[in-house]
Amino acid sequence: MNTISGHTFFLLVWCGLAVITFAVLLRISAPYGRHRRRGWGPGLPNRIGWIMMELPALGAFAYFFLTGNTPKTAASWLFFGCWVLHYTYRSLIFPWRLPAGRKRMPLLIAGMAILFNSVNGYLNGTSIGSLLPAYPSGWFFHPAFLTGFALFATGLGLNWQADNLLLHLRHTNPDGYGIPHGGLFDLIACPNYFAEIIEWLGFAVMTLSPAAFAFLLWTAANLIPRALVHRRWYSQHFDNYPPERRAIFPGIL
Ligand code: NDP
Repeated sequence: MNTISGHTFFLLVWCGLAVITFAVLLRISAPYGRHRRRGWGPGLPNRIGWIMMELPALGAFAYFFLTGNTPKTAASWLFFGCWVLHYTYRSLIFPWRLPAGRKRMPLLIAGMAILFNSVNGYLNGTSIGSLLPAYPSGWFFHPAFLTGFALFATGLGLNWQADNLLLHLRHTNPDGYGIPHGGLFDLIACPNYFAEIIEWLGFAVMTLSPAAFAFLLWTAANLIPRALVHRRWYSQHFDNYPPERRAIFPGIL
């Protein structure tokens, strides 16, 4: 098996695992945040957990992109920049914005996320860094790039906006939860998850990299079930939760 077909085989297995994960998460909610519960082993502080979980995605992508032998072009550097921007925020800035309280997450969840992020960083860094041909100089005018970049930028902006609104709620109400308002929260329970999916859809479309589509599948597999369970949780805990709000896709789901 040569490198390309080995990579393709691994990608297919990886996509199969995403589908299985989706089915499992529809039945068992990941036990962190408001869904944390007993029976999932020892925990670690939330903030440390987030840093440990997300840094491998940054490190693995950077390593495999930078050491890959495909010539680097303006487009591939831009994709590198998009990845680094997202993961610098997620692994270093977002955790420091969480309250330094007593909240913990199970070590098991952090371990699974480290594996997931390492593999995604490896697959995406290798694809753009060494497996796919170099992006041509005209790539910035390609409809896939124009559409994908617009989606990525919109998703990133909406994700940061939703995170800001939630973190504001978290800081004003350190021991409990409130009903979020503003931005897409007036339409859906989880705009942060919706935006994350839009962002990685954009990345996949602008790179046309199979590994990026696999990452999109994984993101949806993780976040759609979690949004459904968040939405159910809100209506169970707040009598006045607006019933018209969907879970993740405005007007649809
Ligand atoms: P949540 O929406 O569950 O929580 C985000 C933060 O906001 C937490 O600090 C949470 O507190 C707080 N919060 C949420 N809702 C409320 C509320 N109603 N009242 C007060 N505080 C609230 O998001 P996640 O922690 O699951 O995810 C964080 C980010 O990571 C998101 O932007 C998500 O898109 C991204 N992510 C991406 C994944 C991927 O596969 N690409 C997978 C998982 C996450 P508390 O912790 O106390 O609940």
